[in-house]
Amino acid sequence: MYRLLDNNYTNAQLFEEGLTDVGKPLHLFVINNEPEFNPEKIKQEGKTVLMINNGIHPGEPEGIDASLKFADDILRNKDGLAKLLENTVIIIIPVYNIGGHLNRSAYNRSGQTTPYETGFRGNAKNLDLNRDFTKCDSENAKSFTKIFTEWNPDAMLDTHTTNGSDHQYTITLISPEPDLFPPVQDKFLRDKMIPSLFAGMKNGKYELIPYVAWMNDDPKKGIVLWKDGARYSSGFASLFDSYGMVTENHIYKDYPDRVASCYQFIETLAKFTSKNSASINKSRKEGEKESMAITEYPITYELDTTQFRMIEFKGYEASDTIVSPVTGVKRFGYDRSKPFTAQIPYYDTWEPAEFVKVPEFYVLPQSYHEVIERLDNAGVNYSTLKNDTVMEVTVDYIDKCTSPKAPYNGHYYHDKVQTHSEVQKIAYYKGDLLIPMRQKSIKYILEMLEPKAADSFFRWNFFDNILDQREYFSSYGFEDNAIKYLEDHPDFNRKFQEKRKKDTAFAQNHRAQMAFIYNNSEWLEKTWKRYPVGKIY
Ligand SMILES: [Zn+2]
Repeated sequence: MYRLLDNNYTNAQLFEEGLTDVGKPLHLFVINNEPEFNPEKIKQEGKTVLMINNGIHPGEPEGIDASLKFADDILRNKDGLAKLLENTVIIIIPVYNIGGHLNRSAYNRSGQTTPYETGFRGNAKNLDLNRDFTKCDSENAKSFTKIFTEWNPDAMLDTHTTNGSDHQYTITLISPEPDLFPPVQDKFLRDKMIPSLFAGMKNGKYELIPYVAWMNDDPKKGIVLWKDGARYSSGFASLFDSYGMVTENHIYKDYPDRVASCYQFIETLAKFTSKNSASINKSRKEGEKESMAITEYPITYELDTTQFRMIEFKGYEASDTIVSPVTGVKRFGYDRSKPFTAQIPYYDTWEPAEFVKVPEFYVLPQSYHEVIERLDNAGVNYSTLKNDTVMEVTVDYIDKCTSPKAPYNGHYYHDKVQTHSEVQKIAYYKGDLLIPMRQKSIKYILEMLEPKAADSFFRWNFFDNILDQREYFSSYGFEDNAIKYLEDHPDFNRKFQEKRKKDTAFAQNHRAQMAFIYNNSEWLEKTWKRYPVGKIY
């Protein structure tokens, strides 16, 4: 159908934008009001770019169908819709997870009855693509990053379906999380964009509610603004101060209503990006300046439970005493015969809990090709060293981190990362990367290269090679050097002898005593647990 639209209209074009894991190309459908498809030229005209991503979870296909209908309607100027294109260009990924979409079955969604048959959540590599935006294990994510970098969308919508809870709404929204944006954009989102989207939806058939993420076991006690990290589409967009959001259609409603409500949201969002193109552009331009000047970067957030506002919520009474007809055991659920309308607290403020200091440069050894490939795709600027050199830099040592017993999305994701910093003189070589921080992708670079950031390359195992030792010592081969070390360091020798006296197990363990000396000496390899990305402040 997109090919037909491409053939019929000169102001719309279907592009192939790189590959996906199933070997088939990722498509991008661009709708303008003139035959101009160069993002730079379009941006120069002051137009906003609205990006819509569909079918990342193929069992959640409302956006696939809604986008097709919207593209058709706006191109045929139904109800004067084409006017929106004067100020905004719409770019659509028809289906993102093509491999999963082809893996169709009526048995992919055990709690969903319509549509009868859908694709599968995992892609051709069995990856959940909505966890892959920073680590980019998939070709899909690599292609997506290139599209995102090329088009720098002002707003991005990723369409989904949810079974999280039951209520009366057909469509819910994970709005852009204002606290992830610089102050000027935080204000724009809270005062203008988010209220306008909810008000716009109220004018139509389908009312919108924030995605129902509970504070407690009952929505009446309050719901929370869901905060997506950078591995998710909307969190990824926020790294570039792009207004990324997610619709979650409600799984238990009829499919035609789900598609129609998704369509209504796309139309509402397109109307907003068109009508407010000047203020969106202004907010992002000013936001960019604010982001580029930051001195601290928040790496963790905590929900502020003192900040909330009351919103109207149309739910069904929740109960944990419903008797299951299958097992005969009491279970949690909702009683659809008991709808209610209530004012409930909505908690929408996340406060930064931990910061890292922003360096002026990172120095990245050229051997980390997989990291460099991802930085390139995301449009990061850097220069390379012209000569071999020794530089004084600040480096982090990974003191502690945990890893799960079973892999998560193809990785042994590191949690609870603890580090300490040291200033060291380190040899770098011609061709190593010098990455200046005062550039547009500053937040992306920080998120990816600060080891403690939640979706950093370190967390996702790109630097695991530093976590075990290479040289180490032999229990008997190190003895001569150990004796010499004790002779040359009388203070340490005293400490060593005291420990032997006090700790009998230690005194009887040859290897432990040798390790005690080795680990305190300059023989201990400096590269062990040393995160290899240097920082210059
Ligand atoms: Zn989903």
